[in-house]
Amino acid sequence: MVHPVPPLVRPASFRGRVARVGDFLRDHQRAVRRLQWIIVGIYLALLLIPAALPLPDRTASVFNNLTIVAQFAFWGLWWPFVLVSIPLLGRAWCGLFCPEGALTEWASRHGRGGAIPRWMRWGGWPVVAFALTTVYGQLVSVYQYPWAAAAVLGGSTLAAMAVGFLYGRNKRVWCKYLCPVNGVFNLLARLAPWHFAVDAEAWRTAERRTEAINCAPLLPLRTMEGAAECHMCGRCSDYRGAIALQPRSPEAEIVGVAPGNGWETALIVFGLMGLAVGAFLWSASPWFVTLKQALATLLVDHDIYWPLADNAPWFVLTHYPAVNDSFSWLDGAVILLFIAGATVAVGGAVFAGLWGADRVLPRPRGLRDGHTRQPLGGRWTGVHKLAQGLIPTAGIGVFLGLTATTLTLLQHEGVPTGWANVVRWALLGLALAWSLRFEWRLTGLRSAAPLRRLAAVGLIALGLVPFCWAWWLFFMRW
Ligand code: SF4
Repeated sequence: MVHPVPPLVRPASFRGRVARVGDFLRDHQRAVRRLQWIIVGIYLALLLIPAALPLPDRTASVFNNLTIVAQFAFWGLWWPFVLVSIPLLGRAWCGLFCPEGALTEWASRHGRGGAIPRWMRWGGWPVVAFALTTVYGQLVSVYQYPWAAAAVLGGSTLAAMAVGFLYGRNKRVWCKYLCPVNGVFNLLARLAPWHFAVDAEAWRTAERRTEAINCAPLLPLRTMEGAAECHMCGRCSDYRGAIALQPRSPEAEIVGVAPGNGWETALIVFGLMGLAVGAFLWSASPWFVTLKQALATLLVDHDIYWPLADNAPWFVLTHYPAVNDSFSWLDGAVILLFIAGATVAVGGAVFAGLWGADRVLPRPRGLRDGHTRQPLGGRWTGVHKLAQGLIPTAGIGVFLGLTATTLTLLQHEGVPTGWANVVRWALLGLALAWSLRFEWRLTGLRSAAPLRRLAAVGLIALGLVPFCWAWWLFFMRW
C-alpha cells in the first residue's frame, strides 16, 4: 500500500519548519563535513591510543585512565545512544556524524570508481555481517579490551575505506551493502517520525534539466518511500521542488510501506531477538558454566586435553594472561553453542508465533516489493509483514543489552544503579505494547474480524514469552 504524499509546501506551519531543517542541512554541507572530520579524529584517538597503552588495573577509573574513557565512550554511550537516535531522528547518525561513513565516502571520492560487483548486492549481507560481528565481538571480548575494539571497529573501518576506494564515485557503497549495522539501522529508521518525502506530481512537472544530486547511499530519489535507507544528509532537500523533510506518523512506514522480506525477518527474529540475546546473556548465565563443566568433564574422561588449553591468540579468542583473562578453546565453543541455542530457542519461538498468526489470518493482499513495486504473493509474505511489527521490541532488546555494559561501567565508578531495573522493565513494556499495537494494525490489513485478529496477536504475544523470560533471567535472576 502506498500512501500519497501531501504537497510539499513551505509555509510557516510545522511541516514548513521541518522542511526548512532539511534545507538547512543542504546549505551547510561544508560544516557537516568539518564536523565529520572532527568525529573521525576523536574516533581514531579513542580507538588507537588505548591500544598502545598497558591494560588498566583494578583501580583505574574514567577519571584517570584513557582506556576506561574510551571503553565508556564507545560501549557505554556511543553505541547505545546511536541506536536510540535512529528511531528518533532517522539515520542522521549515518549521514551527519558516522566516521566510517565519512571515511568510505572520502575514499570513494579519490578512488578507482569501479562498478559495484554482483556479490555485494546479495540481500543476506546485513544478516551475515551483523551475526559475524556480534559473535566475533563476544569471542574476543570487544567491550573489555582495546586491542579487540581496534580489531573489530578498526577492521570494519579499513574494510569500509577499501570498499570506498574500489567501488562507486563519491558514494557510500560500504554503508549500503556491507556495514554490519546497516540492517539494524535500516529497520529502526522505519520508526522515525521524519523522512524525506517525494511529491511525485511536483517531480513530474519540474524543469527537466536540474543539476544532479549526490545521494551517497545510492537511493532512487524519484521513487523513494520511507526512511529506511536514507542517511538524512539533506543534500536532496527541495530537489526539483519535489523533495522535503516532512513529519509523519512513526507507524506510517511499517504499516503502509515496508512489506518485509526473508532477510529482514531473519534479522529481526533470529538476529536481534535470538542471536543478540544469546550474545548479551551468556556471560551472566549459570547455564553457561554448567554446560562448560559438563563438557570439560566429558573431555577429561576421554583423555582429550587440547580444548582446555587457553593458547589461542587474542584476535581469535580473548587472551590476556596479564590480567588473568583467557578463553580456552572449550570456552569459545561453549559461547558459540550458547548463542546458537538462544538463536534457535528464543528466535524460533518468535518465528513460531508469527507463523501461527499468519495461519489464522486470510492471505495478505496488495503487498508490493519495496523496490520493484511488483506484487508480493509468496508463501511467507504474510509472516514477513507481521515480523515488521516486532521492530520496536527487537530494537529495545539490543538497547538493553548494550546498556548492560553502560551500567557495569557506572557501577565500577561507584554510581548507584538501583533505578536501572525499573527503567529497563518500563522500556521493555512500552516496546512490547507498541509491537502488539503494530500487530493489531497489521492484522487489520488482512481481516476485519476482531476475534481472528485477537487470536493472531495472541499467538505473536505467546511467541514473545521466551524473549521476555530471557530478559527476566538477565535482570532479576542472574
Ligand atoms: S535521500 Fe539521499 S540525498 Fe536525500 S537526504 Fe537521504 S541520503 Fe541524503
